[in-house]
Amino acid sequence: MRLALLLTSVHPAIGGVLVRGEKGTAKSTVVRALATLLPGRASLVDCRFGCDPAAPDPGCPDGPHPAGAPVAERPSRLVELPVGATEDRLIGSLDLERALSEGVRAYQPGLLAAAHRGVLYVDEVNLLHDHLVDLLLDAAAMGRSHVERDGVSLSHASVFLLVGTMNPEEGELRPQLLDRFGLTVDVSASREVELRVEVVRRRLAFEADPVGFAAGWRAEEEALAERIAAARERLGAVTLPDTELRRIAAVCAAFEVDGMRADLVTARTAAAHAAWRGAPEVTEEDVRVAVRLALPHRRRRDPFDEPELDERALDDALNQAAEQVEPPEGPDEPPDGPDEPPDGPDGGSTAPRPTDGRSSSQDEGRDTNGQGEPSGDGSSRPAPAPAPPFRARLLTVPGVGEGAPGRRSRARTEQGRVVRAATDNPHRAADLHLPATVLAAAPHQRERGHAGPGLRLHRGDLRHAVREGREGNLVLFVVDASGSMAARRRMAAVSGAVLSLLKDAYQRRDKVGLVSFRAGGAELLLPPTSSVPAAAARLDRLRTGGRTPLAGGLLRARRVLAAERLRDPRRRPLLVLLTDGRATVPVRAGSDPLRDAVRAAALLAADQVATVVVDCEAGPVRLGMAGRLAAAASGALVTVGELSADRVAGVVHAARAA
Ligand SMILES: [Zn+2]
Repeated sequence: MRLALLLTSVHPAIGGVLVRGEKGTAKSTVVRALATLLPGRASLVDCRFGCDPAAPDPGCPDGPHPAGAPVAERPSRLVELPVGATEDRLIGSLDLERALSEGVRAYQPGLLAAAHRGVLYVDEVNLLHDHLVDLLLDAAAMGRSHVERDGVSLSHASVFLLVGTMNPEEGELRPQLLDRFGLTVDVSASREVELRVEVVRRRLAFEADPVGFAAGWRAEEEALAERIAAARERLGAVTLPDTELRRIAAVCAAFEVDGMRADLVTARTAAAHAAWRGAPEVTEEDVRVAVRLALPHRRRRDPFDEPELDERALDDALNQAAEQVEPPEGPDEPPDGPDEPPDGPDGGSTAPRPTDGRSSSQDEGRDTNGQGEPSGDGSSRPAPAPAPPFRARLLTVPGVGEGAPGRRSRARTEQGRVVRAATDNPHRAADLHLPATVLAAAPHQRERGHAGPGLRLHRGDLRHAVREGREGNLVLFVVDASGSMAARRRMAAVSGAVLSLLKDAYQRRDKVGLVSFRAGGAELLLPPTSSVPAAAARLDRLRTGGRTPLAGGLLRARRVLAAERLRDPRRRPLLVLLTDGRATVPVRAGSDPLRDAVRAAALLAADQVATVVVDCEAGPVRLGMAGRLAAAASGALVTVGELSADRVAGVVHAARAA
């Protein structure tokens, strides 16, 4: 982690670092320490966008800057983007009060402006709202932030070192964002006693005397900062020999990465490492270091698989590449000659086939540890093909939400129809309720000393247009796949129902997720995603058989929703539980399985999760457990048949008070 941060500081074009690791590994502490090591930057005093005096941004909104404008030396900045930040905070916003009272289009720069020529740090980057991720990616890719809103149209330079930290247990990163980070490192606490002792010793020393501690390390920190600055200066002169460039290309080809970004990032990282060592040219050692930092997260994979480092495949690729560092033989043959590919005629047959090996080992892993099934506890078999999908009835979350635009539940939205004016200030010009604002300001014009045309407005006059439309929700399916449900026709009906609801969710622009429980435990088959087609494909992975850990399934779903609430707090969840309610596995040995399940359902109600229980109980003897769960969850109860919109007789028994 330290090396990755240092190398990207030496060569910011590497494109930042993603740090993945468990809690309590000082990820954030290390990132924050980085800013103090970076060289300061000269800035124009009159520029809020961080222009470099030597090369001001020609499109700077505060520009054009005259020659000889005052300059100040500023320390390098570390700007933190909080996970819950608004779009305004990230890209800036129009100052509405000044716009209305003074007629000035005053633009307040956001964090993307503040981060220009510095470090932009996102803790829990995996929980960042998709919308902010898009804005962040655009800026990172273009080196500029474009603002088109509220009648403001501008763009400013935004070149920053992106550093993200995340705990993978709380959910993985979207592949688009993953690919955007130059380097990825995994951190974990050391298992070495000596090292742990040293960590604790230093921490205690710091707590006892922070000033003395810092003073004791100052010389070492200054040396480190000087080494970064020296490596930056040396970087331009570092050469990359053809053999090493070929090695990089061969490794990337053998490791099956998408596109060419991996080759570029690896080359830049290898050069940065050579500069860091003080060497004049890139060697095999530099490439080996670079490959380990730049490649593991770029391997082509199923977007939902964990980006785990595949050490062996990487070693294979490096060894493979060692044979290809010399250009193809032949006198005076042009490098782009038509005769022979550089890797020789048998290159294809010797290329490793890591994808095959990987997928088979993963399938094994899923069967053994994914289910945690004790031997002899029922059979495990794939679920039967789903019954044909039907047109699903509309299930909604009660109340009025504020989620992303969609077509499911009632919500305050930016686009819907105006239902009333509120006295809180609008954040965007488009949210201004003009008639109500004028009516609020009009009676006070004389006391404000105003005469003549126009209105004198105060902030308190502004009225906010409250709009109502529909939002998309997070529909989390929790599917009982235990033996009692596994009768072929019933499971086909259940997965047919899930498929129908998935199709419905696609049209209503929901996010979806899928938890199944059976045998020993619960499994998150699909983390919440907007890709509903991917969710439908995941149904293939549903396996059935074994006992019924109903409470475990609900608790797992609750954890998924808790993590998602951090990532996307305004998107309200709808939990759809498909079960016959016949719980047989308790949360811990000795407790009553059904009581555990009812308690888990009550926790969902306490979290204000809207729940629909789909009663899958069949046969002559019915116990009505699903109804008890629905009541405990303050949710609604429906049968599988009642899920169809075309069944006139379908009645939703709402146990929930609106
Ligand atoms: Zn400027």
